[in-house]
Amino acid sequence: MYIVQIAPECAPVAKVGGLADVVFGLSRELEIRGNEVHIILPKYDCMRYDHIWGLQVSMKDLWVPWYNGAVHCSVWFGFVHGRKCFFIEPHSQDNFFNRGHFYGFSDDVSRFAFFSKAALEFLHKDNRRPDIIHCHDWQTGLVPVLLFEQYAHGGMHWQRVCYTIHNFKHQGLTGEYALWATGLTNIAHYFNYDRLRDNFNHTAVNLMKGGIVYSNFVTTVSPAHAHEARFTDQGSGLSHTLNVHQSKFGGVLNGIDYEVWNPEIDPHIASRYNIETLDKKYENKDALRDRLWLSKDFKPIIAYVGRLDSQKGVDLIHHAIFYALRNNAQFVLLGSSPEPNINHHFWNLKRHLNDSPDCHLELGFNEELSHLIYAGADMVVMPSLFEPCGLTQMIALKYGTVPIVRAVGGLQDTVFDKDYDGRPWEARNGFVFHNADHAGLESAMHRAIALWFAYPDDFRELMIHGMQCDYSWCRPGQDYLNIYDLIRCK
Ligand code: ADP
Repeated sequence: MYIVQIAPECAPVAKVGGLADVVFGLSRELEIRGNEVHIILPKYDCMRYDHIWGLQVSMKDLWVPWYNGAVHCSVWFGFVHGRKCFFIEPHSQDNFFNRGHFYGFSDDVSRFAFFSKAALEFLHKDNRRPDIIHCHDWQTGLVPVLLFEQYAHGGMHWQRVCYTIHNFKHQGLTGEYALWATGLTNIAHYFNYDRLRDNFNHTAVNLMKGGIVYSNFVTTVSPAHAHEARFTDQGSGLSHTLNVHQSKFGGVLNGIDYEVWNPEIDPHIASRYNIETLDKKYENKDALRDRLWLSKDFKPIIAYVGRLDSQKGVDLIHHAIFYALRNNAQFVLLGSSPEPNINHHFWNLKRHLNDSPDCHLELGFNEELSHLIYAGADMVVMPSLFEPCGLTQMIALKYGTVPIVRAVGGLQDTVFDKDYDGRPWEARNGFVFHNADHAGLESAMHRAIALWFAYPDDFRELMIHGMQCDYSWCRPGQDYLNIYDLIRCK
């Protein structure tokens, strides 16, 4: 099969969160299984160009229709750790992708509406006819709309679209201008509740809703979250649309790429290890403490790695830091936030805790350091308010780092409580709490810290159970191939 992924992120070149890992890891798995996979991305100025090999212009002049005119683009090609990627570079005054950041601009909707249009225009003009176009999140919600309403009439009849929603919180709400800009000028047709009109904001066009309505299959990133999205407020206003389209909607648990996230071969950690050589994990703990100026006392390290977004339960993360410090544990945080007030809060906290030998807050994005934290910490904490899948806990499991998580979304599908889960002991791999409040979080952290001090052998077994879990792309890769097979034109 020929599969094209159209995505706003791909690890490690353009990574903000888990979406980037998924695009890279799934593409790799699909290739291993004998498929041809191309990835189309914007050519951001802030990409990690040191991870792109053989970057060269593939199509010099691509004219992308935009409002009443057209924008001149170049399309580049390069390999990202073996993946074949095309990068779209518009030459316009809007300067869509030369902003120093991936997101966070007032014209984000225009930027990605343009990208969606440009990606299809490129496939069309370059005579590429994939069996499957797989697109991701609100940024590419217009892809199936444009494909079936415009490009199908220009020769792209046979392409089919799988649309994966990684986060329902951001849906790409915009005005009618996004329709005008991309040539969807029959406004009455598109700005309709059956198509792109937002279910609650009657004046808004909703790009994610368009993606759901027009795609041949829609997934979200865990079975539990697929259920939450349809039957709770976690669908963020799209539950009705998902229920209308339920026959083509399902949850596929993300995988992680064990070529990238594997303590046996990880180049970013101080000492490599596996279940048989688990003691070497503690050399990483030492290295982490050296790097972050933490004291080398007999204490567990609890870590948080992730975006500092309200979704992640920032108040509970804050509380986890102080609970850990009060209970004889150390805390390491690696995170960043595009929201100024959250950023400000954690910078203040960092100043406040600056002299603590038991705590380090690293505010920013640092892929390499994240590897050392997964390897060096004893536990990670994820008190998310909602969590479509969550990769952090799956990575932690692979590194023998015990997750403490809230029972929500993909966390429920991957972490099974040491004390209260009905599964056999070998299948239990972490600590789970239910209520998103201090008492809930403390109950799980208390059990985890107590086990670490009082029953180290049991704690070690729990680490090993986690390392034995298989959250590779093997199964989800097959699940996606089954979906592609179901929808493709034969
Ligand atoms: P989300 O997709 O909501 O951001 P996930 O848990 O699915 O959350 O994925 C987070 C991914 O991003 C993980 O690979 C994690 O290690 C990485 N990550 C998040 N924040 C940072 C950061 N500040 N520095 C390095 N890696 C980060």
